[in-house]
Order: sequence, then C-alpha cells, then structure tokens
Amino acid sequence: EVPRYIGSDKDRVRVVVRVRPMSEREYDESRKPQKVLHCVNENSIIFDGGQHSRRFTFDSVFNEASSQDEVFQYCGIKRLVDMAIEGYITTCFAYGQTGSGKTHTMIGAQGASIFRMDEQYRVEHLGIVPRSINYLFQRLRDKTLQSSSPYYIRVSYCEIYNEQIRDLIRPANPDALQVRGSIEDGFYVENLYQTYIETIDELLTILEEGELNRAMASHKLNDTSSRSHALLSIQIEQDVQESDDPNEQMTRQGKLIFVDLAGSEKVKLSHSKGKQLVETNNINKSLLTLGTCISALSDPSKRSGHIPYRESKLTRLLAESLGGHGITLMIACISPSRLCENESMNTLRYANRAK
Ligand code: ADP
Ligand code: MG
Repeated sequence: EVPRYIGSDKDRVRVVVRVRPMSEREYDESRKPQKVLHCVNENSIIFDGGQHSRRFTFDSVFNEASSQDEVFQYCGIKRLVDMAIEGYITTCFAYGQTGSGKTHTMIGAQGASIFRMDEQYRVEHLGIVPRSINYLFQRLRDKTLQSSSPYYIRVSYCEIYNEQIRDLIRPANPDALQVRGSIEDGFYVENLYQTYIETIDELLTILEEGELNRAMASHKLNDTSSRSHALLSIQIEQDVQESDDPNEQMTRQGKLIFVDLAGSEKVKLSHSKGKQLVETNNINKSLLTLGTCISALSDPSKRSGHIPYRESKLTRLLAESLGGHGITLMIACISPSRLCENESMNTLRYANRAK
C-alpha cells in the first residue's frame, strides 16, 4: 500500500525553469537584441518580445550560467528522492522544445556520450538523473546503517513513441507493449523488462544503453528521438515490520520516475500528412493531456473533478504519481534566443499553468 501524500497542495507540484546559454548558431549580429529572456532573480524571468513584455515567477529560475550541480542542488529533486525512499511515487519531467536542453539537464552534456568522458568532465557535466542516483545510493547507505532491513532497487526504462511503448533495456522485447491496470490500482506496462541493480555503475550502464537504444530506434524510423517520451523508473523496495508479529511483514515500494519528454514544438501541420500527421497529433495530445492533469492537481477546486489521465499512455502511466501518491517536479527548459521566441513563450505559459 502506497502512502498518500498529505502535505499542502502548493508543494505537490514544483515548477522550475532553466535557461540554456545561446548557441553559436543563435548568435546573429544582424538581429538585435538577440535575447528575449532575462532572468531577473532566482524566482523570476522576463520575456521581452519587443511588442510586449511579461514577467513570470516560478519556484526557481536557473539562468545561463547555472551549473549542472547548482540545478541538482536547488531544483528540488532531492526531496523527490527522499520521498521515494519513504514509499511515495514521485516524478521529475523535463519539458521544452527540441534543442532547449532537456537531455543536457537530465542525462548530461553530450547526452549518452557523457558516460565515456573522463572522470573530471563527468563530475562537472553529468545531469540530474545520474546525480540523483548517486544521492539515492548515498542515502540508502546511511539508512541501511540504521535499520536492519535492506533496500532493493528495481529499474525499468521505456519510451513512448506515437502512443506505442518500446523497451529501452531489452529493445528486442516484442514491440507494442500494453498498458494494463486501473486508476485505483495504478497502471503498468505489461512485459516491460525490469531488473534489480546493486551498484551505481549498473544503473548508469542501463541509462547509457537505453539512451543509445533510443537514438538507434529513432534513426531506423528516419526520425529523431525528439519525438518520443523516455521514462526511467527506479523502484525502491524495503521489507518493513509493522508490528512485533513476524508474519505481518510488508514491502514498502516507493518510486522515482524521470521523464525526458518529447519536444514541445508545434510541428507544422501543413507539412505533415498521413502517418506523420497521426504521430504529431499523438505527441501534442499527450503533452496537452499532461498539462491538463498537472494543472488540475495544483488546483484543489479542479482536483475533485474529472482528470483526463486515460487520454494518453503517458498520463496513464503517471496517474498514480500525479494523482495523490506523490509529488511532481517540472523542469521547463528554454533557449533565450529571439529565434525561439514563440516556442519559449509557449513553454513559459505551459509551465505557468502547471504551478
Ligand atoms: P533537447 O534534449 O531539449 O532536445 P539538448 O539537451 O540535446 O536538447 O540540448 C541541445 C544542445 O544544447 C546540446 O548540444 C546541449 O549540449 C546544449 N545545451 C543545452 N543546455 C545547455 C546548458 N545548460 N549549458 C550548455 N549547453 C547546453
Ligand atoms: Mg533530447
């Protein structure tokens, strides 16, 4: 039995924004000013599109100069790890248009190649997921010293592409894995490979191979991985003794889910037809549904009403976490460049609606 979250509603959903540095390509001397986003302080950001300007506030705003470690320390992810150890189901998303820094923030600079870099480079450039894993193992070591019963960690990694689920640990696993379950008991992916791990390195290897499988699968389809959602689920289990009766043992299962979402950009419908149009609709729809579900959760007046989890696979798989058993962290990634003006505004609006 998973404990229900009993904190204030305001703390259930945390929304932070990370602005990445301008890329070389984005510098264009002929267009000035080049930036439309200005981070004012650690909570607010100003969008200045010339015609209109608007100020947004979030739980945290990380500017171009923020390091990977600063984002990890202050974005709020440590609270999610701590709660997952206590038995809650927590989710961390990276949202934003393709190229805005989602994978950089989650996995690290260079994506999966980060794991092949030397130690010094990794220490500086690893993303939130490997840092959280490190923190998780550290916490479990401390906890195991105090309590007699050990923790077990079970991992699965999949992607949702065009409403189809693919196994990223066992890519040969038959395609079209199905979602089973119910809102009451939670949804799960039938036949998705899950593996127990004992060391950080085992988990990092899964992460690395998963990222490579993700890239390979999308290459075969002549596509980029930017159109799939990747879900890494880290389940933390512990046998706990509720009373003196040794027969009354139960297993506590918390979960930490990391989601590298598909690019949020509106794909121009005029250029997509047939199969491609269906894909575009599915991607936009699941992000839209996710936004609706999250904003309903942070608003108590809407929470008692109908929350449309069922409308996409992504929200079905996250229903338990979003719907009362945990807390959610959204990291909205954006480029400050004028070239990304419209998408950045959309991302700020989406993030603003979630909080
Ligand atoms: P996404 O996953 O959202 O498509 P990426 O994470 O692949 O975007 O980022 C696109 C490019 O920008 C990559 O080359 C990445 O290394 C770089 N980048 C993203 N965020 C940062 C950052 N905070 N600092 C430096 N480079 C970044
Ligand atoms: Mg990416």
